[in-house]
Order: sequence, then structure tokens, then C-alpha cells
Amino acid sequence: MIDFQYHNPGSLQEAFELLDRHGEDARIMAGGTALVLQMKQRLSQPDHVVGLRRIPDLANVKWEGDGQARIGSMATHQQIETDPSVKGRLPLLASTFSQASTPRIRSMATLGGGLAHGDPNQDPPPALIALDAQAVISSSSGERVVPVEDLFVDYFETDLQPGEIMTGIIIPPLPAGSGGVYLKFLPKTVDDYATVSVAALVTKGEGNTCQDVRIVLGAVDVTPVRATDAEAVLRGKSLDEKNIHDCGEAVRDAVDPLDDFRGSASYKRDMAEVFTRRAVQQAIAASQRA
Ligand SMILES: Cc1cc2nc3c(=O)[nH]c(=O)nc-3n(C[C@H](O)[C@H](O)[C@H](O)COP(=O)(O)OP(=O)(O)OC[C@H]3O[C@@H](n4cnc5c(N)ncnc54)[C@H](O)[C@@H]3O)c2cc1C
Repeated sequence: MIDFQYHNPGSLQEAFELLDRHGEDARIMAGGTALVLQMKQRLSQPDHVVGLRRIPDLANVKWEGDGQARIGSMATHQQIETDPSVKGRLPLLASTFSQASTPRIRSMATLGGGLAHGDPNQDPPPALIALDAQAVISSSSGERVVPVEDLFVDYFETDLQPGEIMTGIIIPPLPAGSGGVYLKFLPKTVDDYATVSVAALVTKGEGNTCQDVRIVLGAVDVTPVRATDAEAVLRGKSLDEKNIHDCGEAVRDAVDPLDDFRGSASYKRDMAEVFTRRAVQQAIAASQRA
């Protein structure tokens, strides 16, 4: 392990000052599950590590009067997975966080750390994009709000700038008649990263029509992929077998998977189609229960 100085600020202001003072030599640490590995492998060699654990209120889950959720960036995966209010109001989110890795990792890894890590194989980003979540990003010069959909720029690269801390996310209330699901295709072991993953959120309209739909895939490109052409196949149309079939097919052109030990690019493209269809069917079933 490399030598570094660990800072444990007690406020956001103090953390911003440390990040501004040490610039490129400083890295933020949340749960440490990714950063510590990077430091051990010397992929990251900061002289200063700024921990966020002592900063108050960064792990809170709050609900506004209109049903909007505000979840602090230091909320752990386990906290989100088990929070009764999240399970009740945003079951898609609770279920997604319960599928990430092992209990040991979920008890340490945080919402903000995962998003800032920018790994396209992670589980939370597709579900958060399907839920139209926004990231709240703060620095000594103020606060900005970025749709999670726009946060991922490239492989392990996000829109976060030096000196910025993600303080939380905002999720708007779900329209009535909405149901969502996150499916993770894991042909090897349950604690692996996804070979392909899909989050689908369907809002049913009159009769069997699709009022709205959001479909987002993970592990099929260098960033999470919102399959807007596949969504257009269903939006405003009947939720029948043919349209669901065509929706799955439309995903094939939206993804650009990498060949790796989890499967070839063409296998992952096939699985993206199959899992999109399954996710849409299960989201429709969930919308009927909503
Ligand atoms: C063996 C293993 C298996 C895993 N499997 C999965 C899986 O299947 N699915 C899954 O979704 N995840 C999985 N994870 C977790 C995932 O890969 C990341 O390790 C985790 O999400 C990072 O969260 P963290 O809080 O530990 O971040 P850290 O390691 O503390 O930080 C990660 C990065 O984000 C930056 N950062 C942290 N917090 C902030 C913030 N608030 N604002 C700005 N920048 C910040 C850090 O500087 C660092 O660059 C796995 C991890 C391990 C070690």
C-alpha cells in the first residue's frame, strides 16, 4: 500500500477546503471498496484521502411532501436495500441494491461512491436512470444537479470535477400505475458483476396501453445505455406480445458490448434482447399490482 495522509473532516465545508487545498493529490473515500483496491494496485496514488464518514446527515433517506425521495450519498447499499420506506415506495430501488455483490460489500459500498466510480457493470445506475434520478453535486463554488443519465461520460469516467462531492440523489415520485423491475443476468456466481442487466419502468395508461416506459441496460457498453428506440416501440402503444417482442429486438442496435470472460459481444447482445423482454413483462406485471 502507498503512503498517504487520511483526513476525516466533520463538515462539507472542511472537506471542500481539503479538496481545494490538495487538488489532484487528493481523493475522496466513501465506503472504500473500490478506492482501496485501486490504491493497492497503484492505479490511484493519492497523497491525501478525504473520508466522508464523519460528515453529518450524508446518509439520510428523506421524503418530501410530494413523494420525492432524497437519499444521501453515504447511504450504503445495505441501508437502501433494507430501508422500510424505500422498500415500500421504491421497490425497484431496494431490489436493485439487494442484487449488488455480497452482504459484506453492500454493508460498506455507498450510493455516491458507486456512482462516482463510473463502472458500467454496476447494478444501481440502470435502475436510478430508469427512475429519472438526479445527482446533487456540491463544491466550494456551489451546488449543481445533474440527471444520473448524464453523469456517465466514458468507461470509469463521470462528469464529476476535481473538488466536487456528490452529496445525494433526488428521485421524483412515480406516476400512478407504474411498476419497475431490475434483472441481472448472472450465469456464473451470484456475487459476480452482471453479464447483462436491465432496468425497466412501465407506466400503464387506459386499457392495456403503455403511457410511458424507461428501459436502461448495464454491462453492455462503456456507460449505462438508455434504450430510447426500444422505449418508442412501446410508448403510447398496446402492451401486447408483438410490441414487447419488437421492443426487445430494438435493444440490439442500442448496445455495444465488450467481449470478455463473461461472454462474447454477440452473446451479450442476444441476452440484452431476451432480458429486456423479460424485464418489460415483469414491469407490466408490477404496474398491475401498483
Ligand atoms: C469484489 C467486489 C464485487 C463487487 N460487485 C458489485 C456488483 O456486483 N454490483 C455493484 O453494483 N457493485 C459491486 N461492487 C461495488 C462497486 O464496484 C464499488 O466498489 C462500490 O460501489 C464503490 O462504492 P464505495 O462507497 O466503496 O466507493 P469508494 O471506493 O469509497 O470510492 C469510489 C470512487 O468514487 C469516489 N467517490 C466516492 N464517494 C464520492 C462522493 N460522494 N462524491 C464524489 N466522489 C466520490 C472516490 O474518490 C473513488 O474514485 C463490488 C465491489 C467489490 C470490491
